[in-house]
Amino acid sequence: MARALAALAGREFDVLVVGGGITGAVTAWDAAQRGLSVALLERGDFGGATSAQSLKVVHGGVRYLQHLDIVRVRESSRERRALLRIAPHLIHPMAFVVPAYGHGMRGPEILAAAFTLLNTLTADRNRGLTDPARRVPRAGVVSRTRVLQWFPELNQEGLTGAGVFYDGQMFNPSRLVWAMVRTAARAGAAVANYCDVSALLLQGGRVAGVRAEDRLNGEKFEVRARTVVNAAGPYAEALLVRSGVRASRSVPFSRDMALVLKRQFVNGRALALQTRYRDPSAVLTRGARHLFMVPWRGKTLVGVNSLIWRDEPDSLRVTEAEVSDFVAEIAEADPKLGLTMDDVALVMAGLLPVEKGDEKTGDVSFGKRPLVVDNAKTDGVQGLVSAISNRYTVARGVAERAVDLIYHKLGREVRPCRTEITRIHGADFFRFDDLVREVADALPKGVDRSIADRLARDHGSAYGEVLRLAGERPELAVTVGGTDTLRAEVVHAARSEMVCKLSDAVFNRTGIATAGDPGVAELEECADLVAAQLGWDSARRASELREVRDRIPFRRS
Ligand SMILES: Cc1cc2nc3c(=O)[nH]c(=O)nc-3n(C[C@H](O)[C@H](O)[C@H](O)COP(=O)(O)OP(=O)(O)OC[C@H]3O[C@@H](n4cnc5c(N)ncnc54)[C@H](O)[C@@H]3O)c2cc1C
Repeated sequence: MARALAALAGREFDVLVVGGGITGAVTAWDAAQRGLSVALLERGDFGGATSAQSLKVVHGGVRYLQHLDIVRVRESSRERRALLRIAPHLIHPMAFVVPAYGHGMRGPEILAAAFTLLNTLTADRNRGLTDPARRVPRAGVVSRTRVLQWFPELNQEGLTGAGVFYDGQMFNPSRLVWAMVRTAARAGAAVANYCDVSALLLQGGRVAGVRAEDRLNGEKFEVRARTVVNAAGPYAEALLVRSGVRASRSVPFSRDMALVLKRQFVNGRALALQTRYRDPSAVLTRGARHLFMVPWRGKTLVGVNSLIWRDEPDSLRVTEAEVSDFVAEIAEADPKLGLTMDDVALVMAGLLPVEKGDEKTGDVSFGKRPLVVDNAKTDGVQGLVSAISNRYTVARGVAERAVDLIYHKLGREVRPCRTEITRIHGADFFRFDDLVREVADALPKGVDRSIADRLARDHGSAYGEVLRLAGERPELAVTVGGTDTLRAEVVHAARSEMVCKLSDAVFNRTGIATAGDPGVAELEECADLVAAQLGWDSARRASELREVRDRIPFRRS
C-alpha cells in the first residue's frame, strides 16, 4: 500500500481529515465506511505521535467511578467492548489489582461496594463478544492470602485483601492505528503520511480544503474538500492559528509521561501503587493517587505522571531530571522494587489538552470530556469540525460524533456508524487461541514457534502477508538479531505498509524498538533491510539510524 498522492489531486472530497493518530484514523475509516469520499493526511507517520505514547490501557470506566462520573463509566465500558470486538488480536483483557489496607476508605469493603456498582453499570460489557478470551470478567475482591500469592513482595502491614478490576490492554497501539488506516483505505479513503497540512483553505467563511506539503520532497499542493475534520491532537489549535482562524493558542496541555521498565516487575496482572500525591478532583478519595505497573511484552509499563505544559507542542521534551524524579516517586511508593534510572528502557511522553490545572501541586484535572467541536459555532468557520480525544480509548466514539456532524454540515441524511461492530483489517478470526495455533503451524521450518503469539497479535488474520514473503525469501524467515520480529516483517512493512523512514519500521509497524533499545546490531540489521527495500544510499541509511538512536533515551552504547 503506497501513499495515495495522485488520488488527492483534481477532485473535491466530502471530508478531509487532518492527522493520522487514532482519532484521525478511525474518523477516516468511519466516514469512508459510511460512504463519504475521504482524504487523510498525516504530517509524520500514522500513529507515531501521542497515540504511540500510551500506557496501553483501554479504560473500562473504573477510574471515573471514583469521580462518580456515570456517563464516562458507561462511555469507557462501551468503547472497551467495541475495541475488544473490532480488534481482538490487538486488545485483550488485563486484570488490575488494587491492594486494600485496613477496613476504612482503603479497605476491601469500600472496594466491594464500588465494584458492585461498576458491575451493574457495565452489565452489558461483553455484549457481542464471542471469543471467551476477550470477555471481561466481573470486578471483585480477593483475600489477603490470594493477593500475596500474586504479589509476594507487597507491603503486608495492614493488608486486608485486594480489589481486582479489568481493563483492556493494547498490545501495539501504533499497529492498531495502522490497521485502522488500512481499513479506511480499503473502504476507499485516500491516505498519505508525511504530508503536513500547513493551513486551511478558507473561502467566504467556509473551509474549502487544505494547503499541504509533502515532507519527503518539499512539494506543496492543495487538496479540495467540502468539510475538514481537524484531528491533529495537540497540534489542532496551532493549525487554527496558522490559518488565521484564531489569534493565539488558548488551551494549556497536560504533559503525560509513562515509562517502559526493563525488568518484569509484575507478571500477568497489573498492580496499583499508591504515591504520596492526592487526586484533587476525586469524590471518593481513597488517599493518595495511584500509579499502575502493567506487564507488557516481558517488561513493565508504569505511569502516568502529569504536569501542566504551556509551551508550543513542538517543543515537547522530558529532561533526565524529570524522569529521575518520577523514578524516585515510584521507588518511594514501593521501596522493595529497588528501582533506579538504569531500569528505564524508554520514556513515553505526549500532550493532551486540559481545562484547568494546578501548577503548584502539579495535579492536572481531566475534567474535560472528549470533544467534538463545531468550529462554525466557536470560530465562525463553516464546514470545519475538531475532534479531540483525551484518551485513546474514546477515539472511536469521538470519531462517530464527528462524522455525524460532518453529515449535517454536508446537508445529507446521516448514515449509521458501524465502526462499533465492524472488524478491522486482520481481525477475521473467531478465537484468538485458534489463530495462534494456526500461525504456529504456518511458520516456516526453523522459526521458533514461540513467536506465533506475538505475530498473531501484530498481524491478526493477515499474518499470511508476512509468511508468504518469508516463504519466497528464506533469508527473511529468521528473526532480527535477538528480537522476536521476523526480518520478513520489516521488509513487508517497508514494501507494503507505507514505511518512509527507519523509525516508522522500528517504532510503529513492528515492535522492535517500542519497548526500548533493541541493540546496535539489531538496529543496523533493520536499517539494511529497509535501505535495500527503499533504495537508500549509505548517507541516508546513516542519518535514519542516527534519528532512531536519538529517540532512545539515556542510551549508553
Ligand atoms: C504518556 C501517555 C500515556 C497515555 N496512556 C493512555 C492509556 O493508557 N489509555 C488511553 O486510552 N489513553 C492514553 N493516553 C492518551 C492517548 O494517548 C491520547 O488521548 C490519544 O493518543 C490522542 O490521539 P489523537 O489521534 O487525538 O492524537 P495524536 O496521536 O497526537 O494524533 C494527532 C496526529 O496529527 C498529526 N498532525 C498534527 N498536525 C498536523 C498537520 N498540520 N498536518 C497533518 N498532520 C498533523 C500528528 O503528527 C499526529 O500524528 C496517554 C497519553 C500519554 C501521553
